[in-house]
Amino acid sequence: MISIKNGSFSYPGGPPVFRDISFSLEEGRILSIIGYNGSGKTTLIKCLSGIQDFSSGEVSIRGQNSVRGIERTRSFGYVPQLTANPVPYTVEQMVLLGRSRFLGPFSKPGRKDWQVIRDVMELTGTTPLAARSFHTLSGGERQMVLIAQALATEARALIFDEPTSALDLINQHHTVDLLRRLSHEQGYTVIFSSHDPSHALHISDCCLMLKKGLTHIFGPSEEVITESCLGEAFGIEARIYTHINDDGEASKGVLPILKPYRRE
Ligand code: ADP
Repeated sequence: MISIKNGSFSYPGGPPVFRDISFSLEEGRILSIIGYNGSGKTTLIKCLSGIQDFSSGEVSIRGQNSVRGIERTRSFGYVPQLTANPVPYTVEQMVLLGRSRFLGPFSKPGRKDWQVIRDVMELTGTTPLAARSFHTLSGGERQMVLIAQALATEARALIFDEPTSALDLINQHHTVDLLRRLSHEQGYTVIFSSHDPSHALHISDCCLMLKKGLTHIFGPSEEVITESCLGEAFGIEARIYTHINDDGEASKGVLPILKPYRRE
């Protein structure tokens, strides 16, 4: 679906944030981008989604070469990080904003627009919240509304900037599970950044790990998210564990090893 060759980025007058990133992602697959704070995840997400352009490098989308930033924004539904100061729109108005690219400056939403809004609110479980003010919602509810807004763009690829970072454990689980279902059941291509390698290992087909010294590793998630790579990238000791449920199905996670604590 998307392919990057030697993507690099620097803010004006600043040092490189990342250098020579290359990877390809197939349609319908999930890519995770993981790395320590400040490793460039948000910047890379903005470059991929077209909000800003790479300083150098080549981006192809669905076989079309040299796709510029502004054109990429139409290929992706972008879900930003949850902010502390949400706007005072209703939930329905927030989701309707996802239709802006289809609406003229003074035109009203038509039957098709309302049908899409209804469908995406149903899919994200936000229908009962339609008349609520967005800024009165919990973090977990706001996250689902932002996902509905991205789905309302009808883009078949979705890109999420740290979708779980402001959420409690159960809402992290709901969000990660929704990303998985959007890919596995609805065929969306999903790209998300995270500083939780467990989420990446749990649902992503492939992973881009940003490491110190402007280096990175890309490959199948199980080959990238290993105990030794996590040690190099995050400077922590970690164990990969496998949980087998009653049906014999396995799920994997990452357990950071904490120093033993003894009160003197
Ligand atoms: P992450 O999402 O992994 O925490 P970011 O992409 O936010 O990393 O930041 C990567 C680097 O780019 C950091 O050193 C940060 O200070 C710098 N940076 C981020 N945004 C800007 C900006 N608007 N102008 C200049 N430097 C920035």
